[in-house]
Amino acid sequence: MANSKYEYVKSFEVEDKLMPSTWIVLRIDGRHFHQFSDKHEFKKPNDERALKLMNACAEAMFEEFPDLVFSYGVSDEYSFVFKKTTEFYNRRSSSITVSFFTSVYVMKWKDFFPDKDLKSIPSFDARTVCYPSTKIVRDYLAWRQVDCHINNQYNTCFWKLIESRKTKSETQDRLKGTQTQDKNEILFQLGVNYSDLPAIFRKGSCVFKDKVNSCFVSSLKNHILHFLYRSISYPFLHMHDDVLQSNKCFVAFYTPVEEIM
Ligand code: ATP
Ligand code: ATP
Ligand code: MG
Ligand code: MG
Ligand code: MG
Ligand code: MG
Ligand code: MG
Repeated sequence: MANSKYEYVKSFEVEDKLMPSTWIVLRIDGRHFHQFSDKHEFKKPNDERALKLMNACAEAMFEEFPDLVFSYGVSDEYSFVFKKTTEFYNRRSSSITVSFFTSVYVMKWKDFFPDKDLKSIPSFDARTVCYPSTKIVRDYLAWRQVDCHINNQYNTCFWKLIESRKTKSETQDRLKGTQTQDKNEILFQLGVNYSDLPAIFRKGSCVFKDKVNSCFVSSLKNHILHFLYRSISYPFLHMHDDVLQSNKCFVAFYTPVEEIM
């Protein structure tokens, strides 16, 4: 192809290739979802349909990007782990993946909210981080899950107190400086046993490939997957009772090996 005199503009492009031989973790987070969730009247503190829509987007990611091995989602965020050896998109810090996720979110909206039109345009920010060891990936996931637990416990208390006719500022004052035990006690007094809440709210969700019946990976890749499962999932994944299996992925609400509560 002949170079035009405009070709030089390419030289301004900056390389964004990620470090080789490291797990790549991509975290996607809804932009201004506090407003977005108000506008679309999400149930507080947890709208299950919205969480299931996020899970469906994660499943679609697994169908689209074969180098994904594990993902974890809570609230308006999802973290995706790519295998160490991935050469997907030349290990460029990925803008494709977040735009794909966003499009699926919009396309599948009606499947989860048949009674609600999309009233504003959802968008997601994304960042990619390289982690050199399995232990750090596991700690990363535990970090996100501790966040899930802390936020969910706080939000559950908050909305229960509001339901019991406290004002927002009374509620905030009541919760200021409280520890896990105090919040459990408040909930108990309001008739809620925290551990009875659905796991999808308390633990967050994970989506990963069906390691036995992966119809969309070749047997060679399947072998690699088995290896990855041993090195990545098994050290931290305690399969919870509510494991759903779609045709291509598992959706589970996971408990890390280290207890967090
Ligand atoms: P930013 O653009 O900085 O991410 P944000 O408004 O999205 O801002 P987050 O910290 O990401 O802030 O929090 C997401 C907010 O979206 C939550 O606080 C909650 O209000 C709302 N939200 C997200 N998912 C749900 C859900 N499934 N049910 C109810 N509310 C939700
Ligand atoms: P956290 O989400 O870790 O709790 P935070 O919400 O306070 O922290 P960040 O998520 O770091 O802050 O981001 C702050 C703002 O920058 C957000 O409004 C977010 O939408 C935006 N942002 C973050 N990452 C990117 C990115 N890669 N491109 C564009 N905007 C981004
Ligand atoms: Mg953020
Ligand atoms: Mg934020
Ligand atoms: Mg957000
Ligand atoms: Mg968030
Ligand atoms: Mg192009």
